[in-house]
Amino acid sequence: MTPIILQELFNELKKENLSFCVTNLNYNKVIINRESQAKDSGGGGIISTIVYPYGELLGEIGDFEERNAFEGEVPKAIPKEMVERIAMHLLKYIKLKTMYLQVTSKCNYVCPMCPFHGEGYEGKYFKDNPSLKPQNMPLEDAKMYVDKMAEYGIELVALSPQGEFFTYPYWEEISRYIKSKGLRISTTTNGSLVTKEVIEKLKDMGFDEMVFSIDSINKETYVKVRSPKEKDYQTAINAPILAAEAGIYTHVHFVQQQPNIGEKEELFTFYKKGGVNSVSCCVQRYTDNNQNRAKLPILRHEYIHGLCNAYDSGIMIDGNFITCCGMGTRYSAIKPKLDKCSLKNHSLSEVIKYNYDLLINRDEDMMNMCHHCDLYNSYSNIDCQKFIDKKYYAIRHNDNEQHFKIPSKISSLPDDVLLYMYQNNLVAKMKQDKIL
Ligand code: SF4
Ligand code: SF4
Repeated sequence: MTPIILQELFNELKKENLSFCVTNLNYNKVIINRESQAKDSGGGGIISTIVYPYGELLGEIGDFEERNAFEGEVPKAIPKEMVERIAMHLLKYIKLKTMYLQVTSKCNYVCPMCPFHGEGYEGKYFKDNPSLKPQNMPLEDAKMYVDKMAEYGIELVALSPQGEFFTYPYWEEISRYIKSKGLRISTTTNGSLVTKEVIEKLKDMGFDEMVFSIDSINKETYVKVRSPKEKDYQTAINAPILAAEAGIYTHVHFVQQQPNIGEKEELFTFYKKGGVNSVSCCVQRYTDNNQNRAKLPILRHEYIHGLCNAYDSGIMIDGNFITCCGMGTRYSAIKPKLDKCSLKNHSLSEVIKYNYDLLINRDEDMMNMCHHCDLYNSYSNIDCQKFIDKKYYAIRHNDNEQHFKIPSKISSLPDDVLLYMYQNNLVAKMKQDKIL
């Protein structure tokens, strides 16, 4: 049966008298064109399975076939325009579970690659954009936004994008407040302020997840990519291991840049030995207005509207909502549009609807950003490899990698058995049934 959520869309398409044939076998297949693949496929592109962001809204997919004004055999893939219609239709029903909250945009580091505090983001930039000056969110505002998130049904609040959470004077108070609302809490941090004492407090309040941005474990490189201070280096390098030992879900992220090329494996091995729950890496990339700022070679995908895997959602320091990190890195260009519907004076449902309508209706400013965005990366099975590495389950997708710690109860099984279990969702099911 056709997923209920798509029935409305197919009725619309029939009214438009569009020719189509969509089935359970081809609804997620599209012909992708990329320079390298065009060569492999004789110039015609290749069929790729895609994953729709928010595809879980479709529910379980049984057999279905929807066609209109279409003669002939069922095609193996659907046109890009149909993929976009499906992706946009899903956005109409979006129900967010995780949300970033920028309680501070201040940071104690000035990493050269940072799109908020690094090169070019100082004096003149903030003079031209005074509202973007690094600042703290008043505690009362932060609490009000958390209340609105809880009311909407957000399950996890992630603090504090584009700033260092532990510089926020009220980090402890807002963390306890979020937990008191029954929500889960996570943060991304450079780790330099996460001492033993801080970890004790986090453990005590039941802090759920910590993501550490550590771009090198070598002091000489750390000085170049992160901080020149010895104390920062020592605290930051050890913090993920202490957090994992304290039982907090701990993730370490590595961004490959020119000065740390070749250091990923060493860093992964160090933190795997330290027992962290997961590690990941990507290549440095960001976009400033319409200029791509990637310094290393990156793989660019053909843009398909609605398939960006950088969709995310966050509340900025001024109460505005953003739909992805790409909008966050070019916030000054989009802010006037977002000011029209801020969480300051609207409910979260209203704000979400306003912002996703801009995407669904292909707002010109947003499209201009999306079409010039180094962060764009679609979910597809091309170049996706899965393997077991040092008792971690690894997924490599283009230049991104994620490794997840294998539960100790099954980690001694042979690699091929473990891979089979992961690929067939057996591990997820065992976790769900509380066997692991
Ligand atoms: S630690 Fe993060 S937020 Fe701070 S300057 Fe570095 S990259 Fe930017
Ligand atoms: S392409 Fe860039 S701007 Fe567009 S949704 Fe993705 S991250 Fe955001």
